[in-house]
Amino acid sequence: MSTPSGPVPPPATETAGAAPAAPSGRRDQRRAAETGAGASPVREGSRVVIIGGGPGGYEAALVARQLGAQVQVVERQGMGGSAVLTDVVPSKTLIATAEWMTLTEQAGELGIGAEGEGEGEAGALRADMDVVDQRVMRLAEKQSRDIRNRLEREGIEIIAGSGRIGAHMDADANRRVFVETADGGREELAAQIVLVATGATPRMLPTAEPDGERILTWAQMYNLTDIPEHLVVVGSGVTGAEFAGAYNALGAEVTLISSRDRVLPGEDENAAELIEGVFTRRGMHVLSRSRAAGVRRVGDGVEVELTDGRVVAGSHCLVAVGGVPNTAGLGLEEAGVHLKPSGHIEVDRVSRTRAPRVYAAGDCTGVLPLASVAAMQGRIAMWHALGDAVAPLDLASVAANIFTAPEIATIGVTQKAIEAGEVDGAITRLPLARNPRAKMLGIKEGFIKLFSDRPTGTVLGGVVVAPRASELIYPITIAVAQRLTVDQLANVFTIYPSLTGSIAEAARTLHRA
Ligand SMILES: Cc1cc2nc3c(=O)[nH]c(=O)nc-3n(C[C@H](O)[C@H](O)[C@H](O)COP(=O)(O)OP(=O)(O)OC[C@H]3O[C@@H](n4cnc5c(N)ncnc54)[C@H](O)[C@@H]3O)c2cc1C
Repeated sequence: MSTPSGPVPPPATETAGAAPAAPSGRRDQRRAAETGAGASPVREGSRVVIIGGGPGGYEAALVARQLGAQVQVVERQGMGGSAVLTDVVPSKTLIATAEWMTLTEQAGELGIGAEGEGEGEAGALRADMDVVDQRVMRLAEKQSRDIRNRLEREGIEIIAGSGRIGAHMDADANRRVFVETADGGREELAAQIVLVATGATPRMLPTAEPDGERILTWAQMYNLTDIPEHLVVVGSGVTGAEFAGAYNALGAEVTLISSRDRVLPGEDENAAELIEGVFTRRGMHVLSRSRAAGVRRVGDGVEVELTDGRVVAGSHCLVAVGGVPNTAGLGLEEAGVHLKPSGHIEVDRVSRTRAPRVYAAGDCTGVLPLASVAAMQGRIAMWHALGDAVAPLDLASVAANIFTAPEIATIGVTQKAIEAGEVDGAITRLPLARNPRAKMLGIKEGFIKLFSDRPTGTVLGGVVVAPRASELIYPITIAVAQRLTVDQLANVFTIYPSLTGSIAEAARTLHRA
């Protein structure tokens, strides 16, 4: 059995005020002194085992270590998890190149042209996918290495392998985590607190088995050495829309198959309509109310059969129909953890499962599939488990962004909830085309939308559709989180000229005399 050295401390609930336990080994003692790890006197020396090294897992590990726990992280793929290795980091790096390509749309108007081009005409840009994909993979690997190094510097032990939780607690109320290590060995870890942060994997359709060459999941997209001639994207949710938009901008012919009336179902309607219009204007074929029945490989291409009998032929197909939680085979139910019918782990707002001393965070819980939420759930779990001050997870102040061009950022209540009478809210929407900075930059599409509480004027949420909406949403996020009023948001200086000027102006229009 592998445990950090030193006597087993009593269960976490009985260790408040206990003397700090020595970190394991002299190197770790030096590291702890250098980093200040172990500063809190609360439940020092508790043993924490975390299964999964994505944002849910590694952020929790850092908090647990800061609070003086002895921490082991079991990770089977690589530190940073899917977020770093296949999802957030690679997709946003690819999208960064695509975004630069879309900027050329304004070039002619702004008077930019390539040598040899006619006056006011920009030359066509070309993306070199070998360079792009190598950059994507390099960046992901570096980020993973940086996370590993940071955790190791803090004195956290990383075990490469697959973890599974034992069914019972022992007489000392320790839980067991069984690990099949990457080198084929087995280890048994003792833990007073276990955090399950095992994430999710792409959902497969039985009639659309990915072959890694032509029928692909998003994790396999970075192996393409050329821009697909014709990429058919099945699924118009956030992942499908982001990849469809990116490959369209990179120069691929793209067909986006959407089972709903419009792309991005569930998102702000005006934003989704706008982005669908942009996609169509850029030459993407958007097939609405079309459901894929199956995808098959045909020679060097693919055929996507729709449920109404139509067939869409392409060179490649990306199947982006959501994810399934990695919760099977972990021994969870035997340990008393309750799984929802979807397979997600049921947790409360401080990340507790129904099994004592077992917490869960991130995509395996299905609370909100965002890296930021996974990280916060993981931190909250450790603050709670180790007795630090903790506020329960508040989804009302979670900002989310869709990395299309333009981007769509949202925070707080939705227009739909206001229109349905669930919230007594006021709504305002300002098109960006009226903003002076937008005019100078040649930005014609996009808007700022703000929602406020009708009786009090408190900012309840907003939507930003703009280039870099992910950055522009921040003042609205602060207003929502800090319960500022529209007047407070309006009455601060913004740069002239700036896109944020439209946020202040939107707030001014909601002023109640
Ligand atoms: C294409 C794409 C783009 C995205 N872009 C964004 C974005 O821009 N912003 C954003 O906030 N979110 C984004 N997301 C969502 C984000 O990736 C997830 O919400 C985030 O990864 C969740 O973190 P996690 O820690 O729960 O899981 P993960 O990041 O999936 O990490 C879990 C880790 O646990 C490991 N694991 C599983 N089982 C075991 C086991 N038994 N033993 C050991 N290890 C195990 C897995 O291998 C994995 O490495 C995107 C998702 C996708 C698919």
